[in-house]
Amino acid sequence: MKASRLQAVLSLPKVLLFIVGGMVVLSLLFFTFWQRLNRKVEDILKEQFNQQQLELARKIADNVEAYFDYLESELLAYPWRFRLIPPNSPEFDAYMAARFENLQRLGILEIRLFDRNGRLQRSWMSPLGSISGVPEKALEPALLSWVNDPKNKGRLFLGEVHRATTPPWQGRLVMPLITGLYISPAASASEGALELLIDPLFVAHTVTAGVRSGVSGYPWIIDQNGIFLAHHEKGFVGRDALEVRRQRSPQMTFTGLQELQARILGGEEGTGEYISGWHRQRVGETPKLAAFTPIRFDKGLIRSVTDVENPGRNLWGVAVVAPMDEVAGQVSAVTRQELFLVAFFFLAVILVPLALIIVALSWNKILAREVNLKTEELLESQKRLVRSERFAAVGEAAAYVSHEIKNPLMVIGGLARQVQKKLEGDPPLCDKLDIIRNEVQRLENLLGEIRDFTRPATPVKQEINLNQVIHEVDTLLEGEAKGRGINLEEQLAPDLPPVQADPNQMRQVLLNLIKNAFEALDSGGRVTLTSGAEDRRVWFTVQDTGVGMSPEVLDKIFNPFFTTKEKGTGLGLAVIHKIVSDHQGEVNVKSSPEEGTTITVKLPCEPEGASSELS
Ligand code: ADP
Ligand code: MG
Repeated sequence: MKASRLQAVLSLPKVLLFIVGGMVVLSLLFFTFWQRLNRKVEDILKEQFNQQQLELARKIADNVEAYFDYLESELLAYPWRFRLIPPNSPEFDAYMAARFENLQRLGILEIRLFDRNGRLQRSWMSPLGSISGVPEKALEPALLSWVNDPKNKGRLFLGEVHRATTPPWQGRLVMPLITGLYISPAASASEGALELLIDPLFVAHTVTAGVRSGVSGYPWIIDQNGIFLAHHEKGFVGRDALEVRRQRSPQMTFTGLQELQARILGGEEGTGEYISGWHRQRVGETPKLAAFTPIRFDKGLIRSVTDVENPGRNLWGVAVVAPMDEVAGQVSAVTRQELFLVAFFFLAVILVPLALIIVALSWNKILAREVNLKTEELLESQKRLVRSERFAAVGEAAAYVSHEIKNPLMVIGGLARQVQKKLEGDPPLCDKLDIIRNEVQRLENLLGEIRDFTRPATPVKQEINLNQVIHEVDTLLEGEAKGRGINLEEQLAPDLPPVQADPNQMRQVLLNLIKNAFEALDSGGRVTLTSGAEDRRVWFTVQDTGVGMSPEVLDKIFNPFFTTKEKGTGLGLAVIHKIVSDHQGEVNVKSSPEEGTTITVKLPCEPEGASSELS
């Protein structure tokens, strides 16, 4: 029985532990996978976003290339035009001024005409651009020999972006586009050269203006030396892309960006990520998504776009970049909603059954407790039955024995008295006869107790006040208590309800209890009589500070004839038990060898209203 109760107590937390543990493991698994999925979704979105950025970058590169295609056809048309309007004709100046007027709007700073020795002959430029007249200028020797090489007839040379060192464009970024002039159809050597001086910043600005990626992404363009030709941040334009960034955020390394830039200028196209130091108004480390593509100038049919000494180096790069959290932010907004949904599902699917299980388990526990209680009651009543059967058997035997002994005992006592009378002059014999008479008396007392125990004493019940009975017995035993040096005290509840009981039997119960208490107190002490009422029951206790009992003794004290005393009968408590049982009451004993003994008798009492209702 104990084991099953233990199980019932243990099973609830154990099952709960299992369920909660399982839930935690499941949740961990779930969130790990969920996180992983989210990251995948984020990666896909980033990739898609970057692909769109790449499209934008390609568009920009296409526009730059288209622009140069136009310039190419413009420049290659001049030899034909010069056949119709030769440089020494009267309309030439006006014609060229009109051409320049036109090209100026496309970012051409100057048109230069060189003679066959590479010396500057004529120049057309914006009045704003001309600072202090036209200085003596000549084509660089390498360029002159390129122009004069007949195999370059009908070809163009596009120089790198560089900072002009002489007026009028000193300090400005410029880019030359040159072709040899073969004016007469029969000319086998160039008759001079024509140069368009391009403003690369104008070009870069034009193709990037208004381009936006996502919410706040923007493009930038660098030239072959990593100089910004276009950037959202105006202050960056014309400056070294890495240097200007490092100046602005000295604490950052920009290695990612450096690699990316190297890839662009190596002619690679692709997508990637890097950590930037800012984005528009925002300052601080900003991870960015970047798509990049090179701008090549050697795609035209006949154009030879080369650095004379270093062919193929002339390359720009365009990148479109946007802060990563713009993309990731959208994902996280969606995933937050997703999480909310999942959490709701989780609660519904897991917590509700869990709650049901808890309810079922606690219900189980209550049932188990109830069953245990009933089992205990059953066992107790079984014990009582066995005891009363034993009582009955012992009682019958005792009644028979006491009846058989009673008469001979009376004869022995009577004869002893007669003999004593005859032997009054012989004190030693008289003393012996005294002993016989005393022992006979003791045996008669024992027979009396046996009679009490065996008598089929149905209680004669009447309404009594227990306090009054207790007080009577207390008064009766006061003298004896004093003689034994015992402190006999009363602690009676003032408003004790009356009980239906046999006053004589109650007196006997109290007498037996107090007698036992006295006998337990060898060298004085205290005996307390207490009374009280609770739960429709009236109770009284006899408490002593005596020797107390071991658990083994405690187990047997209600057995008839069980005694630990030399001259005890072992019937006192057996009689008490019988009387109290006859009153539908119960006796509880609490005792320990150090603290003494407390014996409580509980009797049922009618609730106050019950009897008046009947009458
Ligand atoms: P008896 O008093 O004749 O021994 P009882 O039935 O009255 O028989 O008591 C049985 C036994 O219970 C006693 O012998 C004693 O060991 C024990 N006992 C009863 N009351 C007390 C008590 N107040 N303190 C210690 N032991 C007690
Ligand atoms: Mg006794």
